[in-house]
Amino acid sequence: REEQRALFIIFGGTGDLAQRKLYPALFNLYKRGYLKKNFAVIGTARRPWTNDYYRDVIKCSIDGMFDSQAQATDFASHFYYHSHNVNDKQHYEELKALADKLDEKYDLGGNRIYYLAMSPRFFGTISQYLRSEGLVTERGYGRVIIEKPFGRDYQSAKELNDEISRYFDEDSTFRIDHYLGKEMVQNIMALRFDNGIWSALWNKEHIKNIQVTLSEALGVEERGGYYETAGALRDMVQNHILQIVSLLTMDRPKSASEKDIRQAKVETFKALKVYSPEEVYQNFVRGQYGEGEEQVAYREEAMIDPDSMTETFVAGKLEVQNKSMAGVPVYIRTGKRMTAKMTRVDIVFKNEAPLFGGGIEPENVLTINIDPDLGLDLRLNMKKVGQEFATKKTKIGYRLSKEQVAKIPEAYERLILNVLQGNAVNFTHWDELKYSWRFLDAIRNAWDEQELPVDFFPNYACGTMGPQASAELLEKNGDHWIY
Ligand code: NAD
Repeated sequence: REEQRALFIIFGGTGDLAQRKLYPALFNLYKRGYLKKNFAVIGTARRPWTNDYYRDVIKCSIDGMFDSQAQATDFASHFYYHSHNVNDKQHYEELKALADKLDEKYDLGGNRIYYLAMSPRFFGTISQYLRSEGLVTERGYGRVIIEKPFGRDYQSAKELNDEISRYFDEDSTFRIDHYLGKEMVQNIMALRFDNGIWSALWNKEHIKNIQVTLSEALGVEERGGYYETAGALRDMVQNHILQIVSLLTMDRPKSASEKDIRQAKVETFKALKVYSPEEVYQNFVRGQYGEGEEQVAYREEAMIDPDSMTETFVAGKLEVQNKSMAGVPVYIRTGKRMTAKMTRVDIVFKNEAPLFGGGIEPENVLTINIDPDLGLDLRLNMKKVGQEFATKKTKIGYRLSKEQVAKIPEAYERLILNVLQGNAVNFTHWDELKYSWRFLDAIRNAWDEQELPVDFFPNYACGTMGPQASAELLEKNGDHWIY
């Protein structure tokens, strides 16, 4: 475990993301020895906090994770607070002075990571001042980490990207999609490309369909204001779901290098069939949750328009027109207030007409359990034990043990380490974004043009797997949701 030297500057250092995810992730890197003596963190936001107060906040956010008070105190001693309005040029001069001082004190070699844990509308301004006020050093690296949402359509994503790329090149820009930091998402490539059986079968000749489910049990919670302007399509499909789809459907990369994997992924995004409005209406379904036994309908939630037409559920059939997968239906679905919180992939294989028949699985299914279970299941047909010759459905399963799960780094920990190491393989490249927005805009625009009666929603009850139309989407193709 090589110690990494760097200064982190976290914009939005008092925010929810910083406290819930980033500080615990940095602490785990410290505990595992990737961060030791030579690192420092500047948290900046508008509130007038002192270093002491900030360090108490850091200790609170790693509560229950440290071995001793001394360890927590030592970790927190690397944190510095700078009260700062990102629109104020003068603040960057002070920030630079502090950064240079810490660089010397901790011997950081000029390496700097700028974490933009704030609203994207500030990204352009921050990037510009980081350059113009000389915060980006000549000596070490300067890498910028960006959170979602990256735009709300192709045009706004491009404008945002143009702003940032004026000051940071693509190799220094790390766009986070935390699903790419999940153990079983990272496992998809290993499974596909390092197993002869799956390499041989993972193609349009043998796969009947692919299903990706990313369901949430919670409702919109406190995010109503944002969610009203986003909806499930932008919030979940454009990023997490399409990233998982690309890993499942990409052609085999030439090598395991970052460049070749990225190339293969970009080609996959490019190969996503962009739908005409007619095709959108045929292939995409939207839903919004109504009330449940103890839950209110989406339209009754805080900060939500009582006539809101925002979708909290999406199901769709995609097609990736590449060598391996052209013609294979890829079904996706995601939503809030569904039966359970779960991320899983089902690969449904074609089956010949059964020779023996009886109570068998019509299709072999490989299930990749991503969350909250981590493992694989394979549905097979086998002979019933005993004298008589009869067949029966069988499921064989593999689960990561509790001990293994305990060793898995949290997504943010893994991704921040990737940034420290300069490895961008688990981040979203601009080209991937570009094509994903092109695909998404076609759906969004077709929906926006469609006049729906207000009582179209709600169309699914809390605690279900979405509207009836989601099941029908598969049935009309002779398919069905495995889960
Ligand atoms: P938040 O509202 O909790 O925090 C925002 C931070 O920005 C605060 O520290 C605030 O002080 C600071 N800030 C606002 N205006 C400022 C200004 N003019 N100058 C200086 N500082 C200013 O938000 P959050 O939930 O932490 O989210 C931050 C970003 O991360 C958002 O873009 C969000 O979409 C994204 N994100 C958050 C989560 C999450 O779990 N919270 C998950 C994924 C993505």
